Amino acid sequence: MPDKAFPLPKRAMAIYAHPDDVDFGCSGTLAAWIERGTHVTYCVITSGQKGTWDPKMSPTEMAAQREREQRAAGEAIGVKGFVFLGHQDGELQVSMDLRGEVCHVIREHKPDLVFTNDPWGHYQIHPDHRVAGWSGLDGVIAARDHLFFPEQLRGGKLKKHRVSRVLLFGSREPNIWFDISGTLDKKIKALQQHVSQVGGRENFPDRMRAMSKNLGTAWGIPAAEAFRYLELA
Ligand SMILES: [Zn+2]
Repeated sequence: MPDKAFPLPKRAMAIYAHPDDVDFGCSGTLAAWIERGTHVTYCVITSGQKGTWDPKMSPTEMAAQREREQRAAGEAIGVKGFVFLGHQDGELQVSMDLRGEVCHVIREHKPDLVFTNDPWGHYQIHPDHRVAGWSGLDGVIAARDHLFFPEQLRGGKLKKHRVSRVLLFGSREPNIWFDISGTLDKKIKALQQHVSQVGGRENFPDRMRAMSKNLGTAWGIPAAEAFRYLELA
């Protein structure tokens, strides 16, 4: 399914494991939607504390740097809201506590559509990517029903919230492709804000362009991002 008929959400949220997942996975699509008026919030579950090979870098310093990088990357494409849950990189576990945190963020920011890591991805060896995907999806279900985490709703400040559509990135079995040829440069610029992660990579922009081109080949799209699309009843 190509994207021509895809109705744009008014509000979208990306819920994911590490600073930079969103930029590799869906920032080209988000940049295009933001240009057309979608309000976007990022919810980053860990702060990427282990994302360094520098023996002198402490996890706390790394977290601060990576949160700064994620904010700069989001701002480069016009993202309006940032939530950093601050969990430890590499140590995420599926839990009711984490599901409750994600549920709270969804009820607070009220996205119509959620992006998250694909937890079903075959050969997905990073534990955080699996857990982030489950927590994103489980948080979506919890947010819509008032008997999940009812304490969040007491006092009336938060209400239950229904997310109607989900796009999973990093999927081995995509069923929708979005044309990002108009925003590929913005996506690359956003990715380059993650200096600690992509700063030393040679020919990084060319490699990202080639990857985006490959993803679109089957559909004749010059540059694409691919997702597994779920419509929730
Ligand atoms: Zn990641």
